[in-house]
Amino acid sequence: MPEMMKAAVFESEGVLNLKEVPVPQLENEDQILIRVEAASICGTDVHIASVPPGFHAAPGTILGHEFVGIVDKKGANVHHLEIGDRVVVNPNNYCGNCVYCRKNLPNECEKIEALGIEYDGAFATYCRVYGKVAYKISQKVPVDLAACAEPLACAVNGLKKVQVLPGDSAVVIGGGPIGLMLAMLLKSSGAGKVFLLELAPYRIEFAKKLGAMQVIDPTSCDAAKIIADATGIGADIVFDVAGSQIKAAIELVRKGGKVVLFGINQRAHTEITQYDITAKEISVLGTWLANATFPEAVRILEEKIIDIAPLITDVLPLEALNQGIAKLEAGQAIKIVVRP
Ligand SMILES: [Zn+2]
Ligand SMILES: [Zn+2]
Repeated sequence: MPEMMKAAVFESEGVLNLKEVPVPQLENEDQILIRVEAASICGTDVHIASVPPGFHAAPGTILGHEFVGIVDKKGANVHHLEIGDRVVVNPNNYCGNCVYCRKNLPNECEKIEALGIEYDGAFATYCRVYGKVAYKISQKVPVDLAACAEPLACAVNGLKKVQVLPGDSAVVIGGGPIGLMLAMLLKSSGAGKVFLLELAPYRIEFAKKLGAMQVIDPTSCDAAKIIADATGIGADIVFDVAGSQIKAAIELVRKGGKVVLFGINQRAHTEITQYDITAKEISVLGTWLANATFPEAVRILEEKIIDIAPLITDVLPLEALNQGIAKLEAGQAIKIVVRP
């Protein structure tokens, strides 16, 4: 067991450095040490690394919260895992005792702690987590796909907010990795027509190549008219993955339909006419992180229910993390995986 390891440390505004740091030690018998096989770069990492930051992380923290690895050490209280198991991790550690944890909402835990944002994460050779947030996954799942279990678990949590029925029509606003995963999940759940709204040329071309969904650029055509014409009444389900499109979502959904707000944008303030929600009897639902959806995400990957392989546009060594972040910031990639 080496004493030192390579890790990408967020040092201060815009400064993410690859450094030699001590390998973390178990602090108690509830923890495990994971040898990281692969970690994917999240939009949140891009926001943390940008100047000024779009999302705040604690300086001195090793970033990286979407990953897969092998259990290297385990505390005596961890009974559901063995040394050598391959695991994916829910990066949002919950206390298990607060009022929300007791309401089966650990994603809303009052003491929630975010791996790779508030405490050391997985852009490193080793990562220490609590055993309770680690889930076993088959060695047969390609490593770069397994690294994406976390965003997939979040997408599944969003999907669980609605009941997709065979033939339902759906709109996804935002064609990043989560939007594309949601479009694929909707399709595999039985949705008929799935429309994807996206502005960025790279993402538009990418989604068109994936097929299975109709890609609409709302700046060059009347998205509402296209969707109304295709469905007759508007979409049954609309997902806003952009985090600022509630107004468009309410316009595109049919009477009695469902709007799910997935995207995170704390700066977005939208003026909406509340009457439209009332009169159209629209259900507007928020969805936050992953809640008990890691087992589903693991099963989707193991059984290839959807194929997310095409979404991984780049695989880089950990040393090239900053290049990967720059590429995502420039909008020239969908999902980038780094391997320590
Ligand atoms: Zn993430
Ligand atoms: Zn809690």
